[in-house]
Formats: sequence, structure tokens, C-alpha cells
Amino acid sequence: MSEIEHYVAPASLDEAVDCLQQEGGVTILAGGTDLMPQKNAGRLKPQRTLMNIRGIAELKGVTLSGGEIRIGALTTVTELLENSLVRQHLPQLIEACDHFASDQIRNVATLGGNICNASPAGDTLVPLLVLDARVDLVSRSEGRIFRSSMPIGEFFVGPGKTRRTPVELLAGVSIPLTPENYLGRFFKFGTRPALDISTISIGFGGIKKDGILSKVRVAFGAVAATPVRAFRTEAALEGRSLDEATIAAAAATARDEVSPIDDVRASAWYRKELIHNMTKRILDHVADA
Ligand SMILES: Cc1cc2nc3c(=O)[nH]c(=O)nc-3n(C[C@H](O)[C@H](O)[C@H](O)COP(=O)(O)OP(=O)(O)OC[C@H]3O[C@@H](n4cnc5c(N)ncnc54)[C@H](O)[C@@H]3O)c2cc1C
Repeated sequence: MSEIEHYVAPASLDEAVDCLQQEGGVTILAGGTDLMPQKNAGRLKPQRTLMNIRGIAELKGVTLSGGEIRIGALTTVTELLENSLVRQHLPQLIEACDHFASDQIRNVATLGGNICNASPAGDTLVPLLVLDARVDLVSRSEGRIFRSSMPIGEFFVGPGKTRRTPVELLAGVSIPLTPENYLGRFFKFGTRPALDISTISIGFGGIKKDGILSKVRVAFGAVAATPVRAFRTEAALEGRSLDEATIAAAAATARDEVSPIDDVRASAWYRKELIHNMTKRILDHVADA
């Protein structure tokens, strides 16, 4: 099916999960900043029904409860940048949003769209990985709204591909509240200083107490089919202080551990050099913080 026959705009989650059961399939529209260019370029064949989810209040907003920050799927990049909870607790997500597209795109692009588009270069994905985020999905089961969740690292299976089934909607993400002495950073490297897709991106998260790192998370974007955690690099940092030797060893481990892709934006060799240099740079910043 390549032509849209029906357009629906549910006002509630209940209506939306019902709509997802329709025959002929449903294409979900949030901000449209990925969907529309992909459709116009012929890279995406829409399903019979186009479902605009922008009117669903339950998918909006940022809340703190039970030690978790919950961000609704429809939260825009601009709203993330302006939110006090996100600014206070999720520094690497703020840095990613600060390097995201232009003001016009940020005003409509949603967090849920960035996640479900599943680009290896999606800028919010690396911060969400190092923040141990879980994706929250909703569907209709036995007449009720059925909720499930999974670690975001398990959600991505390839470029543009996730574990979301056609009858599920992404409701949002849940992120454990970051503890005291938590440090988070995100760097993105592109060929232009602004409005560019990442050639690579790196995220860091961890606790630095009395100079010693713990609960270290390091992840990279735009180096593989999905954003990836760098587990060996994390192990090279865990329980250590960030002296020159530790930083050099961790940067070398990252270069060995990640097997980047060759594509139009950079060769694998160049990406390996970037991985080394950006790991060193982000760790220098963490050491000075
Ligand atoms: C000029 C330009 C610059 C850009 N710059 C950047 C950039 O710097 N960094 C970056 O990461 N991206 C960038 N993008 C890509 C895009 O803006 C983001 O990925 C954005 O977050 C997508 O969100 P959206 O709300 O527009 O999603 P949509 O286009 O509406 O949807 C994207 C995909 O997700 C699905 N979807 C959306 N919401 C849900 C949901 N709740 N549940 C299930 N499925 C859902 C849709 O069906 C579709 O497949 C850019 C795009 C443009 C056009």
C-alpha cells in the first residue's frame, strides 16, 4: 500500500491504540520532520491510515515520580531545552538538544519521533543510552491499554528498525533520577558547526566522587547500525581517577572496541580517529569538572 486513504487524529491514548488495530496498517505522524521528507523522497511507503498523534495529551510533558523522570513521546526538542527537570538532571540530553537542527525543527521535532525513527545518528539516542533510559510502549490487549517497557539499548535493531510492533505506540521514556555527584556530557562532530547530521557522537555519564568514577556509561552514535554502548571503555574507567594515563588507555580502548562504518559522511578509518580523539576530549572535560 503506498497511498494514504484515511487520516485520523485521536484525542486520547485509548482511541490511538484502538486505531492501531485497523486493517491495512497505520503510519504514525508526530512532528513529521523525518516522516514527510522520507515520504517525499520515496524512502517510506505510508500505510493505509495516517494517524496524527499530536492531540494526545497523555503523550506530553515531563514529570518526576518514584525516582524516575518520565518524558512523554510528544515532548519537542525545544520543550526539553526549556524544562527545568531536564536541565537539572539530564545534562547530556540538554547538550544533545542544544546541537539539534534549527529552532524551526526543534519546535516540532519530538523525542518520540527521534527514537522511533531509529537513525544511528539520532542525537537524543546516545544521551538516553548513557542515562539508562527505558522506552515505554502502549497497545490494546483484551480491551485494555497494555503497557510494557524495555531498556532503550534493546529497542534498536538496525537503521530505521526497532522492536516496536505495528500495534504499539511509544508513550515516552523513563529515566532513573541521576544521583548526587553525577556528571553527564555529550559531544557531536559534524562537518558543519550547525545543522549537520553527526559524523560521530559520544555520550558520557557517571558519578565522580572524591575524584573516582563509578557507574560509568559511554556510548557512541553514527558508528554502527544502531547507537552503541562501549562496555570495554566503561570498564577501563570504572573505579579509577581520571589521570592522563587512564584517559589515554580509555581512548585507545574505545578506538579498538568500536568498529565504525564507512559512509558518505566519513570513512571507517576517520571515524576511528574521531572516536579516539573525542573520547579523550570528553574525558578531559569530565576530569576538569
Ligand atoms: C532539516 C532537518 C534537520 C534535522 N536535524 C537533526 C539533528 O540535528 N539531529 C537529529 O537527531 N535529527 C535531526 N533531524 C531529524 C528529525 O528532526 C528528528 O529525528 C525528529 O526528532 C523526529 O521527530 P518527529 O516528531 O518529527 O517525528 P516524525 O517525523 O513524525 O516521525 C518519525 C518516525 O517515528 C514514528 N513515530 C513518531 N512518534 C511515534 C510514537 N510516539 N510512537 C511510535 N512511532 C512514532 C513515525 O511513524 C516515523 O516513522 C532533522 C530533520 C530535518 C528535516
